[in-house]
Amino acid sequence: MKPAWKISLFVIAIASLLPLPALATVSKPTTPADESNAKEAEELCGKPTLDDLTQHKVKQGETLEAIAKQYNLKTATLMGLNPEVRNGSVNVGQTLSIPPLDGLTYRFKNEENYTTVAKKYNIRADVLFERNGCQQKPKVVFVPGAIWKPDPIPFNPAIASRGSDNPTVIMQTGGYPLPYPVPVTSGYGWRINPVTAIWSFHSGIDLGAPFGTPVLAAKAGQVDFAGWGDGYGNLIELDHGSTGTRYAHLEAIYVSQGQQIAQGQQIGIVGSTGRSTGPHLHFEIMVPSGDGWLALDPSPYLNRIAGAMSDFLL
Ligand SMILES: [Zn+2]
Repeated sequence: MKPAWKISLFVIAIASLLPLPALATVSKPTTPADESNAKEAEELCGKPTLDDLTQHKVKQGETLEAIAKQYNLKTATLMGLNPEVRNGSVNVGQTLSIPPLDGLTYRFKNEENYTTVAKKYNIRADVLFERNGCQQKPKVVFVPGAIWKPDPIPFNPAIASRGSDNPTVIMQTGGYPLPYPVPVTSGYGWRINPVTAIWSFHSGIDLGAPFGTPVLAAKAGQVDFAGWGDGYGNLIELDHGSTGTRYAHLEAIYVSQGQQIAQGQQIGIVGSTGRSTGPHLHFEIMVPSGDGWLALDPSPYLNRIAGAMSDFLL
């Protein structure tokens, strides 16, 4: 969370303590005194956040993560507001809705109100009310600070194997290493290491899955390594014959060296062990080379699989 956002939320929270009696009368502005109270409440509330979205037109060379960073937002926030980028990739010319702060949109169900939705996301009902312009019965609200994530679905290898008809994917068959697609929090390639602050090569992709999420074998194979891998923390390496996969920073490992693994089998759970700044799965795809395994960029493979899974959800 950015400090600026923390402060503004704090200010809103404090401000919201004061006008509560005025807010209580907004629904029935019958007397002149009530009307002025209603006006006052409106001024305090301001524009609903959903009426305050910026449009961003995707330019050549931009990635979803870079656009999110540019606006100091989480990638997941952009995915939540723009369903067309939930596979993690953007197209040049595409227009994205950018909110002024992290959060997600929520559609009220019949029996729901500000209180129940605030409770669901563990925020204050009055903060939610004011962020949405103090509207009495909006259909859709913006929930500040909440992190969007896809609905979990049971893992189905049949969905994942749809990737196999594309000859450009690195692995001819395979599954996503988690039960559902999640935002990429750090891509493959050169970067400033978030822990060591040293310019270094990131040989895999970081998938921002919450702590305890099951980690699944992307493809059937044999466990090459299962144990402590220094900076990788708890690490599993699977050998699939012509390719290998690596799963790092695990909280727990459920397999042992030499074991045969089926595709989609749970091999561990997401954690933050080793050199890691928070729970995520570091996932690598490797191919043999003269010097041993060579890590490739897993994003074309993951985007395709995640895309196939999202198609299935629609
Ligand atoms: Zn990583």
